[in-house]
Order: sequence, then structure tokens, then C-alpha cells
Amino acid sequence: MITPQELVSKIKLYHHNLDENLIIKAYDFSKNSHGNQRRHSGELYFSHPLAVAEIVAELKLDEESIATALLHDVVEDTDISINDITKNFNQDIANIVDGVTKLSKIENLHNADRVAENFRKLTMAMSQDIRVLLVKLADRLHNMRTIEFVPSKEKRLKQANESLEIYAPLAGRIGLNKIKDELQDLSFAVINPEARNSIIAKLNEIRENNKNIIDKIINKLNEILLADGVESEISGREKKPYSIWIKMKAKNIGFYNLHDIMAFRIIVKDVANCYKTLGIINSNFNMIPGSFDDYISTPKENGYRSLHFAILAFEGNKIEIQIRDQEMHNSSELGVASHWNYKEKFIKNNQNSKIKIQEKNQYRWIRELINLFENSESASDVLKHHKLNMHKDEVFCFTPNGDIFNLPHGSSVIDFAYAIHSEIGNNCVSAKVNGMISTLRQTLENGDQVEIITSKNSKPSPNWLQFVITSKAKSAIRNFIRNQKYQEYSTLGHAILQKYFVLKGLEFDEKLLEKSLSFFNKKTLSDLYFKIADGSITRHEILKHIYPDFIDEGREIRSAKPLQKIIKKSKYHLPLIGLVDGMAIKYAGCCNPIPGDSILGIINTGTGVTIHQKMCRNLKNLALNPQHVIDVCWKEEESLEENFTTQIRVVVENKSGALAEITSQIAKKKININHIKTTNRSLDLFEVLIDINVKNVEHLEGILSSLRFSKKTIQVERIAGYQS
Ligand code: MN
Repeated sequence: MITPQELVSKIKLYHHNLDENLIIKAYDFSKNSHGNQRRHSGELYFSHPLAVAEIVAELKLDEESIATALLHDVVEDTDISINDITKNFNQDIANIVDGVTKLSKIENLHNADRVAENFRKLTMAMSQDIRVLLVKLADRLHNMRTIEFVPSKEKRLKQANESLEIYAPLAGRIGLNKIKDELQDLSFAVINPEARNSIIAKLNEIRENNKNIIDKIINKLNEILLADGVESEISGREKKPYSIWIKMKAKNIGFYNLHDIMAFRIIVKDVANCYKTLGIINSNFNMIPGSFDDYISTPKENGYRSLHFAILAFEGNKIEIQIRDQEMHNSSELGVASHWNYKEKFIKNNQNSKIKIQEKNQYRWIRELINLFENSESASDVLKHHKLNMHKDEVFCFTPNGDIFNLPHGSSVIDFAYAIHSEIGNNCVSAKVNGMISTLRQTLENGDQVEIITSKNSKPSPNWLQFVITSKAKSAIRNFIRNQKYQEYSTLGHAILQKYFVLKGLEFDEKLLEKSLSFFNKKTLSDLYFKIADGSITRHEILKHIYPDFIDEGREIRSAKPLQKIIKKSKYHLPLIGLVDGMAIKYAGCCNPIPGDSILGIINTGTGVTIHQKMCRNLKNLALNPQHVIDVCWKEEESLEENFTTQIRVVVENKSGALAEITSQIAKKKININHIKTTNRSLDLFEVLIDINVKNVEHLEGILSSLRFSKKTIQVERIAGYQS
């Protein structure tokens, strides 16, 4: 434990006309008051206020702050009253001690509002005298430094969370960044030691693999600045494990290299040199657009001044740079505390109204916080409202080569791919964002480095249209789908026409067809087939045009041979007879046909062929052109691997276990359930709609009958849009 004289000489280093007696008196008063009280660590309790006083002295605060630090726990923990403090010291010290004591009392409450209430009281107290907060932060910092001695894990967690949620942001807010960093790190170690340890291990590993990289970057920066006659002091630092962790959580990423963990600070002579340095770096490196913040011309609310930006440099590494002069630097290290150097007695001297006004403006944000409290329920609400909301309309992202692409806010990886080139977009299979494999729909942020991975066999998916936002990507995807659909439809139209001619016993000759192109106002056969498939030209119209003399006897010639030839061409093993490969088919959602059902195909303009049950009641509602109906049936040998989705409706008693009974019955038949929806829940009954995968009608009947035998079920049926 340091002696009063040692403490005094520490303070004297920055405080020249120190009232030594005040410090010595407070030292003795506190030591005697706490007497033989002990901390959890077994040390004398007085070691704590003394350590807090030392922290306050490191902040270069005034003598009253240090006296307060020494006395901050005597009212709380001993028989001494605030009145005693006023009598023995002065009103200001008593007020600050009172503020800190009140805060400690609130900390010991155990209710849900405690945190908010605590924060509310803290801001009230701060608004009277900012030194309350400074002493409180020093107190909290020392308690966090010694938290390992607190026996209850619950209490340790509570303290750590509170430090993270309230005290660290407050420290940051008034510019005490060193205290903020330390509070975060100490809390992180309590709350999530595993995450912290693994980040530290990873940092060590990265450091090992990139020996001297920080020095190399510093040397390079130094070199280009000196070439332009700018003298500077450059330091590089790694970001703290906690801030890396927050970024990992926010972006749901791991970190893999130096990208996100390095920041450099350049301290120059004066403001003019700050901007000159900015210019020099700018002309030597690619600045990441959108990353630039000028806190010199527009200081932060806490008075912080600096130039901030990021550059892409040194083998594609993104690094952050801060430029400031010495005065700005001192102020950022010590925050509000640094002002005590210049206006040593400004709070004590209450008569000096000019200084008071200055003080008011400087801490206007505290008053704003109090206003916020009047309209909000919780501390977290206030903290949320108070976050700087930077609405930027654009993001700027990089290729691995450093080319910049400027995209609207909310753009995805796919948008980026199409921004580079439509071929890259069309062939995009995956991507890496800042070195991490990302999804294609991942939203990009300013400064992201995006590497698109392509494959020649890959094609755009219509699903992409759900999340791309740039018109370039949208139109390119639509274009591709249109082309692909054109191919599919041409194949389908060709097959429809060929099959029709064969059925009518006529020769299918493309040379004859070509002669009719001009009549149908088409340039190519593919165009003509497309129009047949999408239904705008019927197969009968074409037949009539080529064979004007043909008389349809209404009887189709059954010529199995050529028909089989068509079917054999199928590569896709469609379970249906009557279709050929390349056809876009889908099963109607209204009747969910499965093998064994009587079916037919409907050619729909724009969507290919839809397979319905012949009994589907929706068919009645469709104004069907007979030319659009094609005969299809299930292949007999099929139904091997493929499963078909269909929907069943089960009504059961509203008793516990009823639903479990149904699902286990279905599982016993080795049938997969796709989806379950419970409806019409009443007191006695509820209805379950289940989507299941079955092989065919027989398979389905098996499960339906076993469900019907169950005691708990009242009604079991297939939902198939039947005509009833
Ligand atoms: Mn304390």
C-alpha cells in the first residue's frame, strides 16, 4: 500500500499548486474509518479506495476528485455520515461522495429495473458534477480488476454485464477510451472466457504468421510521409479481443487474417499536417470510400478529434488509420479529464459564469440523456436510441485486386457479381467476403472485399430475384431465365407437334414446316415451337396450314412405334408417359397427383405443363382449350425412388399424445412428413393438415387405413381437390 506522501508526489507530477493537506487528511480519514474491514481478497478494505485514488490520479484529475476517491466508500460502509464529510472537508467533496454512494446503493438492489434506475441516477448525479462519474468509473475499474475474489459466480456475472452495458459505454462517451477498453476486456473474461481465450490464441497465431507486419506497415507509412517532409509518430495496434468478438458476432463471421484487427495511428505536428498526411496517404493507397470521417472539422460530442479512414494496402489488407495532432491525442487518451490541465479549478470556481456555460455545453449530452430517460422505460432503450445511426445509401466494395464497385445499400453478393460482369453473375456459385465463405444472399457492407467464385456449369436461379436489388442483376437474371425458358419451350413445342402429327398419321417434316414460318410470322422453327408450347399457336392450326386437305375423322391413328421412339429420348426418367425431355413440368398444388391417380397435362402459357388429377375440381374452373390438354399417364415401372408430395387431413380428439400418435403411425410406414399445420382447434377436436411424401396411391392408402384404425382419430382423408 502506498503512503500518503507517495500519493501526494504522484499527484504533484501534474498538479503544481496541490493542497497536500487535503490529500493527506482524506487518506487518514478513510483509513481510520474503514479500520480493520477486509475485502474478499483478505486485504484491508482501505486498499480499495486507495487504488481508486491512484486510478483517478492517473487520469490527472483535481485534488477534490482524489479526496473523493479516497472517501467514496466511507458513508456506504462505515458509521460516517455525509454531514461528517461536509464538516471535515467541504460541500463539493460531500456532494460527490453522496453521488457515488447513492449509486452504490442502487447497485445492490435486485430487481429488473435496477440497471435502468442505476443509469438514471448516474446521469442525474453526473449532470450535477461530472466528477461523480469519473470517480465511479475508477471505482468500477478497480472492482473489475479484483473481481476474481468475489466468491459468487452470479455476482461476478452481474457486475461484468453491468460494466459492459453501462460503464464501458459511458467511459467511451466521455472519451476515456483506455478505461472503456479495460472494462470491456475484464468483463469479457468473466462473461465468456472461452471466446476470449480462443481469440487471444488466434491473435497469437496470426502474429506468428505475420512477423513484423505492423513494423513493415509503419516503416512504409513513415517513408512516404518523410518523402513529403511530414514528420510523424506512427503506432500500430491490434484491436482488442472484445471488439473483435463483437464484430464477429455482429457479422456472424470468424476472423482469418489481419484485415479486421489492425489499426494505425499517426500523430503529427498540427492540424495542417493532419490534412497534408491524409492527402499523401490518399495518393499512395486506395482509400476505402465511405470509410472517411473528419472529426477535426466536426468533433464528436465528447470532444474527440481525429481523421479516420481505412485503406487497402499491403497485399490486400484493409487497415484502419487515424490521424491527429498531439493535443487531440492527449485529449482522446484522457477524455474530459484532460481539460483539468487547462481549467484546473473550473468547477470549484462557481462564481465564474463564463466557465460554467462552457461546461454546460461540453456536457450537453448528459442533459440529452436525461431527457431521453423521461421518455423511455429502460437503460437498454436509451443506449439503443443513442447509437449513432449512420444511414448511408451506398456501399463500396472491392474485388481482391482492389477494384472498387459502388452498390446501393442492401446489395447482395450476387449484385456484386453482376456489377463486375454479367457472365460472372451468371456463373456465380459462391463467394468469399473478407476471406470467409459467404452465402449468395449475404448483404454487403462498406469496405467488404468480395471474391466471386464461378463455375462454367452454374446457372442463375430464379430464387435470386428475391434478394438482388440492382437493376443490372435483375435484368440479367430475367434475361437468362427467359432464354432458358425459350430453349425448354422450343423443345416442348417440337415434341407436342411431332406427337400430334404422328397421332394423325401424318408425316412430320421440318422442311414443310419451314415454309409456313412466314405465315405464322416467325423467323425460325424454334420461335414457332416456342409459340406452340406457350399456347399462342395451336398444333391444329399448324397441321391445317401444312395439310389444308386433311380431314380429321376424329379417330386418332394409334401408331405405337413412332410414339415409343419419342418416349425413349427421355433422359430425365420422367415418371410420365406422353412427355419428352426438356419439358418444364410441375404437379398441381390443388390436387397433388401421385402415381396411380388418373392424370392429364395442361399446357399453360408461361409455365410449361402442369399435371392434374383428372378429377381435380379446379379443371372445371379453367377455361380449357382442348388444344392445351395433353394426355399423360404414369409409367408402370416407375415409382422406384421418387416420392410425391400429397396432403392429408386428420381430425383427432384434443387429448395429449394425439398428435404424437399420428406422427408415429406415419413414421412406422417410413413416410416422411414435410409439413404439419394444426387448425380448427376447439375444446374437443383439432384438425391436422399433413404434407407427406409417398410413392404412389397404394402407399398412401396404406397409411390412411392405419390412421383410420387409430382410436384417437375421428376422420382421415386425402385432400385432393376432388369433384364431389
Ligand atoms: Mn468502491
